[in-house]
Amino acid sequence: MNSEKSQRIGNGPGEKVKGGARKKSGHAHRKSLNDSLEGEVKAFLIDEDRLHTYDDLTKVNPVTPKTVLKCLQARYRAKVFYTHAGCTLVALNPFQPVPDLYSLDVMKEYHCAPQPQESKPHIFIVAEEAYRNVQGQVEPVNQSLVVSGESGAGKTWTSRCLMKYYATVAASSSLLKSQDTVDRIEKRVLVSNPIMEAFGNACTLRNSNSSRFGKYIQLQLNRSQLLVGASVQTYLLEKTRVAGQPANERNFHIFYQMMTGGSDEQRSEWKMSHDQRFAWLPNAEKTLEEDCFDETVEAMVHLGINAEKQGHIFRILAGLLQLGNVTFCSAMDESQPCDLEEKSKDFMQRCASLLCVPVEELQTCLRVQTLRAGKQSALFKPCSLADCSVRRDCLAKVIYAQLFEWLVTFINDSICADNSTWCNFIGLLDVYGFECFQFNNLEQLCINYANEKLQQHFVAHYLKAQQEEYVSEGLEWSFVKYQDNQGCLDLMEGIPTGVFSLLNEECLLNRASDAKQFMVRLEKELSDNGTMSWDKFSKQPHFTVAHYAGKVTYQIEGMMEKNKDPVPPELIHLLKKSENPLLHQLFADRDPVGQGTRGLRQVVTVVSKFKNSLESLMKILHSTTPHYTRCIKPNTDCRPLTFKKEEVIMQLEACGIVETIHISAAGFPVRIPYTSFTQRYGLISNLFSQGTGENGLEADNKGALGLAAADILRVVLSHSLDPTHHIDNETRSSLVH
Ligand code: ATP
Ligand code: MG
Repeated sequence: MNSEKSQRIGNGPGEKVKGGARKKSGHAHRKSLNDSLEGEVKAFLIDEDRLHTYDDLTKVNPVTPKTVLKCLQARYRAKVFYTHAGCTLVALNPFQPVPDLYSLDVMKEYHCAPQPQESKPHIFIVAEEAYRNVQGQVEPVNQSLVVSGESGAGKTWTSRCLMKYYATVAASSSLLKSQDTVDRIEKRVLVSNPIMEAFGNACTLRNSNSSRFGKYIQLQLNRSQLLVGASVQTYLLEKTRVAGQPANERNFHIFYQMMTGGSDEQRSEWKMSHDQRFAWLPNAEKTLEEDCFDETVEAMVHLGINAEKQGHIFRILAGLLQLGNVTFCSAMDESQPCDLEEKSKDFMQRCASLLCVPVEELQTCLRVQTLRAGKQSALFKPCSLADCSVRRDCLAKVIYAQLFEWLVTFINDSICADNSTWCNFIGLLDVYGFECFQFNNLEQLCINYANEKLQQHFVAHYLKAQQEEYVSEGLEWSFVKYQDNQGCLDLMEGIPTGVFSLLNEECLLNRASDAKQFMVRLEKELSDNGTMSWDKFSKQPHFTVAHYAGKVTYQIEGMMEKNKDPVPPELIHLLKKSENPLLHQLFADRDPVGQGTRGLRQVVTVVSKFKNSLESLMKILHSTTPHYTRCIKPNTDCRPLTFKKEEVIMQLEACGIVETIHISAAGFPVRIPYTSFTQRYGLISNLFSQGTGENGLEADNKGALGLAAADILRVVLSHSLDPTHHIDNETRSSLVH
């Protein structure tokens, strides 16, 4: 058994994430890769016809990226979308509805199975395992379901499936018996999804329903394991999208929903004529199934956002669309504020009216900077043409971000259970996947940092901890090498000389930020860290980070400004005056001068806020039992049932799936505390000892029988995959001796 173990381990460590491999592309490379894949696989896996039957990749022999890939491909072809990979579940995106895969009957089947793990791999196994684990062996243990994968891989879809599962199986028992639609709190929890997706998702090049924010939802359970509420925490909404979208992408769904779903009456209330085009609504001709206004409105009603509040929300959004059409031109006299383009005057008027602010003040705020000189007096300085547009965009971003935050708070107020009524939770984490574009900036830095943190959590929790435990328990064990991303995390979060600290320091210095200067500083402070590099031939200030999932080059230009994320105080003053009650409420408590009066040292930068919220998330994750699901996108074009080997293998490598399989395959799948173990299986061991006594076996034979008993138990146990179980040293020695 041990030699088999080390043989398997020996095949793995060489197969690491190699940034270089990912750069190779083109037909020639693809062909040679395919040829070598075929060759290698044929050499080892004789029974190719049965490849699709491997429910657990730990059973594939040998475990290499290629054999794993071949197996997944065979399963995908056979329309089998879930596969165990030891402690993780691999979910391949079918990119088309799969009839009956998530039906109520299937939910019941997994929920009622005595050993769900023995059923076909499914996301419901993970769900059910977590649900049963909440009870714990000794005391209840909170659970976290971490769903990861690149954009379009199926994280949000999976999270929705999980929520539906819990809203069904953890609802009052009558629901399970009938086809009733889930109601009450379960329904409220579910309908929070369409609202958050309408306001936080958008069509991108990678996914027509891409989440532009991260989400951790805690499903709250009472002592009887019934779902009594939920709370949502969101992370870093991509608010820049409201005022500018990358080529061929769209704004947030909600705007298109209003355009296509609003009634004539509503459109006239929103001052939106049928033929009006909006600069901030590109690709409006594209119709998506996500453009369902009615569903969003219905969800709002269900959560208690009444018609009056909806009216306020939609008028604010319509105001932003009008604002996006406003453009400026230089004034004849340079000492005067910029002018509005002639056609913009009407848009400005409509915007002011929808936001319920005085139009003159709105115009002034966008074009004139107010410099405070002491408490009473002020100086007025006309903004440059470029600054006027920056202010316009800033106004839209700050309003949208605040509105989104308000919605999340409202949802929480509506679905969160009273503290006294719940005692445990199952957390679902759906965060944006790793991003690497042609141009990457602060947003990608934060997103990729979040992915590094999650990867570290996985590595620390599973790969590292498990191996260390084997060694500490004196088991014969050859270490499986895995990619530890601590170096990269040190580079980013190190204090005082990590990228984030240095960036914050730069932002706190009250001076015009200089990208080149910052790059020099990074080089000086961080060139020793092997995960950072620079391209000597590049003219743009930049830095490259070798993330666990590949190298990403970040542009420094604009990064400091994004980190400071300043909002001109005049804009906040204006919004406080709004007669739209909701808009007024959004800014009522906001300190307009903020950074100016309290001193620059107290500026809370984007990265510090993000880092803090991520730290709280990691603390929660560490306090729970995690379950990992890796969603895989089988092709970048989102085509149904199309499996592109090169694309899949890159994703498998990026998440270290092969290492995970090696450790899971070579490791012991079951851990049971001594007391539970003896309670459960003591009978067998008694039988053995009685047998030996009565038959008067020699001491040597007795030892051999003991070993046989241990082996039998191991076989028995390996069939009851329950990761919370634990065999401790005492148990093990009592089995063997
Ligand atoms: P992003 O990071 O961009 O938010 P994501 O990982 O959340 O991406 P999803 O939005 O969940 O990706 O999935 C993308 C699309 O793939 C879905 O809109 C849906 O059409 C399809 N899809 C995903 N999973 C499944 C599934 N299990 N069955 C059928 N279709 C699916
Ligand atoms: Mg998503």
